[in-house]
Amino acid sequence: MTDLIIENGRIIDGTGKPAFEGSVLVEDGKVAAVGVAADSAAKKKPGLRRIDATGQTVMPGLIDTHCHLSFDDAGSNSEIFFQRRNALSALVASYNARKLLRAGVTGVLDPDSTFENMTDLRDAIDANIVEGPRMSCGAYALITGVGGTAGRLINDEGTTGYYMAVNSKDEIVREVRRQVKYGADWIKVHVTGIIPRQAHKGEMCVWTMDELKLICDTAHDLETPVMGHCRGADATRKAAEAGFDLIFHATGMDDRALQAVIDRKIPIAPALTFQYNMVEFGPRIGTSDSLISIFEREITDSIETMTQAHKEGVPLLTGSEAGFALVPYGDWHYREMEVFVKYFGLSPLEAIQCATQKSAFGLRMAGEVGTIAPGQRADIICVTGKVEENLALLGNPDNITTVMIDGVEKDLSPPPRRKPLSGWRLASIGDKRLTRELAYGPEQEPAPLNVEELH
Ligand SMILES: [Zn+2]
Repeated sequence: MTDLIIENGRIIDGTGKPAFEGSVLVEDGKVAAVGVAADSAAKKKPGLRRIDATGQTVMPGLIDTHCHLSFDDAGSNSEIFFQRRNALSALVASYNARKLLRAGVTGVLDPDSTFENMTDLRDAIDANIVEGPRMSCGAYALITGVGGTAGRLINDEGTTGYYMAVNSKDEIVREVRRQVKYGADWIKVHVTGIIPRQAHKGEMCVWTMDELKLICDTAHDLETPVMGHCRGADATRKAAEAGFDLIFHATGMDDRALQAVIDRKIPIAPALTFQYNMVEFGPRIGTSDSLISIFEREITDSIETMTQAHKEGVPLLTGSEAGFALVPYGDWHYREMEVFVKYFGLSPLEAIQCATQKSAFGLRMAGEVGTIAPGQRADIICVTGKVEENLALLGNPDNITTVMIDGVEKDLSPPPRRKPLSGWRLASIGDKRLTRELAYGPEQEPAPLNVEELH
């Protein structure tokens, strides 16, 4: 392990404190000193590797607490459920993990994966078999027989894609224990789903309170935290009261739900980058106006509750929902910070604190990574320009000049250009039906075949 000093940069330390000029000394993979102390300690170390960060922001690496590395920019659940292969999706995920590094992401929480194969990617990264961000992960997402958000596509029992259906309390206990046995860092639960003929607007809670508590008790007894996909007030309140440790989305909270979260200071990762991309760029990919306004409402309806939660000390964590075609790997991991600033009233420095110090919780490494301070692991990036003045600087890999994890600099060269994988994408012959009207126009009749010309 090489010791090094990063000099002449502007440091954003990840605690919300304003940027300051100074050096960072890294020894044995950890931050040894910051500022003047770093410079004087460096003088006693001749031959120390020096990184010149003139004109750059030196900051903790970004942590994305909601990124599905095995989904591979999928266009639909059908593609993930029926076209993915186990080993290949893990290999592809390792290719995508490098895109995260180039985007300045040094830590990622992968909530659920096809064939629960992200425990293997995590272990391969830890063992230096492949290069990628520091990872923590869930296994299969638990759902009830009611299903999740993919309705009838999900099998009544067993696995489908990234889901595992559990149909009794015995199955809940067995499955939680099995996932812990095979190395899940977190238990992921899809607390809400959609049923075909519901009167209820939006997603509904598809578990009983007893079941949610059973999941938490079983996991917590095995020192494993629980995270839940929750949309709507009822689900968010029940998850909070049942003992969930992290709540994804948490949109549509009412007063009771908000209070339940505030009382317990349960971190929320809204993961609204997906919706924000849809609002801003939906028309470019042909999304209908009505669908765009549904997505926009999910953000705007949550402004009050998220703002309040943040003010009351509920940690907001950043998550991109990368894994889907609307949020390709490598491009948008910084963007949740823009959602927090634009909609929830955070300052850019507070948003950076969410993406670093606060999101370390998702890695189960709060207090170890996410800030630049003596004793912290040296997960550090250098970015050209003043990041707090323009968060979107983080969206261009050319601006990201150094990425290190545990003080080890990562390869930021672009990965080789990808070619198509056979049978991997949902094949489509086009998105329109070839009616006669489409073919010939409203009135136009086809010209008769000119037989003489043909022969
Ligand atoms: Zn997700």
